[in-house]
Amino acid sequence: MSLLSVRDLTVHYGGIEAVRGISLDVQAGELVSLIGANGAGKTSTMGALGGLLKAAGSLTYDGVDLSRLPAHERVGRGLALVPEGRGIFAKLTVLENLQMGAYCRNDSSQIAHDLAQQLEQFPRLAERRGQLAGTLSGGEQQMLAIARALMSRPKLLLLDEPSMGLAPILVEQIFRLIERIASEGVAVLLVEQNARQALEIAQRAYVMESGVITLSGEAKALAADPRVRAAYLGH
Ligand code: ATP
Repeated sequence: MSLLSVRDLTVHYGGIEAVRGISLDVQAGELVSLIGANGAGKTSTMGALGGLLKAAGSLTYDGVDLSRLPAHERVGRGLALVPEGRGIFAKLTVLENLQMGAYCRNDSSQIAHDLAQQLEQFPRLAERRGQLAGTLSGGEQQMLAIARALMSRPKLLLLDEPSMGLAPILVEQIFRLIERIASEGVAVLLVEQNARQALEIAQRAYVMESGVITLSGEAKALAADPRVRAAYLGH
C-alpha cells in the first residue's frame, strides 16, 4: 500500500482548471519529484495535498482519506508542506518558528529533543536562534522552513520549489539536505524547476504539463528520455 495515493485530483480557480484529474503515488521513505514548466499546476497540486486549496478527487494517506481534513490535521498525521515562498513567520524568532513546527504535538520532552537535534543539524539557525526570521538570508529562510516542517515529525514532506531564488552553492546544499532527509526514512514529494537535480536525487518522478501528468517512471529513465531532455534538461 502506498503512503500517499492521489486519484483524479482536480483544482479549479473559478473557471480555470489548473489541475485536471491527476493521479500519483508516494511509497513510504521514497523520494519522488514532480517537474514541469511554470504554470503546469505543480504548486496547485501541492496546495491541494497540504490542504491549503480546495480540490476534488481522492487523497489517501497512510490508509486514511484525508481529502476533507484541514491543513493542520494533515500535519498532525505526518503530512507536512513547505510551501513555495517558504511561509516562515518573519516577525517571530528562529527558535519560535521551530517551536511552531511542533504545535500539533504534545510530547514535550521529545519536542525538546527534536529542537536540539534541528539546531545541531542547522548550525546557521542555531547561531541565529534569537534573531527574527525575516532578517535571515533566503537560503537560511529555506533551511528554517524545512527544519520547521521536520519539527512536526513528518512521514511525508511536501517541498514546493525549495531551491527557488537561491545562489548555486545554496541550491547544492538544499539538494544534499533533501537527500539526507530521505535517507533518514522520511518520504519526500519534491516540486522543482531545477529538473536535472530533481531527477538525479529522486527514485521516481512525474512530469506535469497543463494540469495533467504526461510522463512518469523511474527518475533515471525519465532523465534519459528524449522528450524530457528536450523540454526540461536543455538538450
Ligand atoms: P509555478 O512554477 O509558476 O508555480 P506551477 O506549475 O506551480 O507553476 P500553478 O502555480 O499551480 O503552476 O498554476 C497552474 C495554473 O493555475 C496557472 O495557469 C496559473 O495561472 C493558475 N493559477 C494559479 N494560482 C491561481 C489563482 N490563485 N487564481 C487563478 N489562477 C491561478
